[in-house]
Amino acid sequence: MSAHSISSKLYKNACEIIPGGVNSPVRAFRNVDGEPFFVRAAKGCRIWDVDDNELIDYVGTWGPAILGHAPIPVIEAVSEAAKRGVSFGTPNPFEIEMARLIVEWVPSVEKVRMVNSGTEATMSAIRLARGFTGRDKVIKFEGCYHGHVDSLLVAAGSGALTHGEPDSAGIPRSFAAETITLPFNDPESVEKAFMADGDDIAAVILEPIPANAGLFFPRDGYLEFLRDITQRHGALLIFDEVMTGFRVAKGGVQQLYGISPDLTALGKVIGGGLPVGAFGGRAEIMNQLAPDGPVYQAGTLSGNPLALAAGLAQLHEMEKQRGWQRLEEIGSAFESGVRDAMAQAGSDFTFHRVGSMFCLFFTGEEVFDLESAKVAANGGSFKKFFQYCLENGVFLAPSPYETGFISMAHAQEDIDRSVQVIGEAFAEIRG
Ligand SMILES: *Cc1c(COP(=O)(O)O)cnc(C)c1O
Repeated sequence: MSAHSISSKLYKNACEIIPGGVNSPVRAFRNVDGEPFFVRAAKGCRIWDVDDNELIDYVGTWGPAILGHAPIPVIEAVSEAAKRGVSFGTPNPFEIEMARLIVEWVPSVEKVRMVNSGTEATMSAIRLARGFTGRDKVIKFEGCYHGHVDSLLVAAGSGALTHGEPDSAGIPRSFAAETITLPFNDPESVEKAFMADGDDIAAVILEPIPANAGLFFPRDGYLEFLRDITQRHGALLIFDEVMTGFRVAKGGVQQLYGISPDLTALGKVIGGGLPVGAFGGRAEIMNQLAPDGPVYQAGTLSGNPLALAAGLAQLHEMEKQRGWQRLEEIGSAFESGVRDAMAQAGSDFTFHRVGSMFCLFFTGEEVFDLESAKVAANGGSFKKFFQYCLENGVFLAPSPYETGFISMAHAQEDIDRSVQVIGEAFAEIRG
């Protein structure tokens, strides 16, 4: 058993002055009845905690670390930029370079604005959709996470036309009432919602590959269906590609599936580990933003030179190394190892992967929406599984509802070691 005494002490100190000891709830390890560890340093695919435990990391700072931790091109770009000033509050050339890259890489984006987080990106995209259409209601899907935006923190409610109850205290019912929450992969419920409220629906927002309730996929034709029905009713289609953008492919899910949303939210990988988000789409819609149009949106640090230097360096390095092809190779090696281990352990697992994103479900049943993901997220098995992996040097996300991330820094030997530990963990939970 590895030692955690320094982490434990820091966690106690943190809890006295930071709510729950953390600055984002999932870091608290509550889903696995554990305590978070404090990180001393991270490099490549490895993390070292303050007690000097070494871990192979599949959390990747929750998505951004696609090259691995502390990649040299990103460190150099940030250092160079910092020497010239850390923030200006007036336009800088990085902003044009980043905007041009996004417009070139992300098929549906004609104009783009930078923000500081994924939450800001989805929040602003929703406001813009409402401003553009002059409508108030938004359709979202159960299990899709779009940051902690008031009107999007609604996932509860079964039944086709449930008008939302907020998921969090502090959100007025009246806000949540503007959100229609539907099951994913269920075209009929969307048709009914448009039949009932079609003239009031400003937008449909979704993670085109949902990755915040485990990881599952749109069924054949589902994204095409959403594209078509929104178009017919004059509502906007918003792809939240904060997690999938620059991750599953250079141009995100919209490139993989060949679907053109009206607006796209971006984050995570785009910032190279610094706080960056972006939202963009058709010029006609984006032109409604202030100062050109009536939809107000702003940010003191938006387009920050350090953050954009980091993001640009990461994205250019990915392109230079043909990163997405490489990640498919590493991901596929990881998958075949895990599948072998699953076969040896018995059959009650399901493994989902797209490129460098993966999720293991503790069920043999199909997972295609929040309900089926919940059934699969068998808390008891997961906790044991997670703890065994952590104690043996493999850091998976501390919740059965999170997606794992492979980086460019995961070498074959790291994959082999991880697969071996995962195999042992399967044996462990079977007892
Ligand atoms: C992480 C995430 C967000 C929120 O981004 P933050 O930078 O944490 O605010 C929004 N949407 C999706 C799909 C995400 O995965």
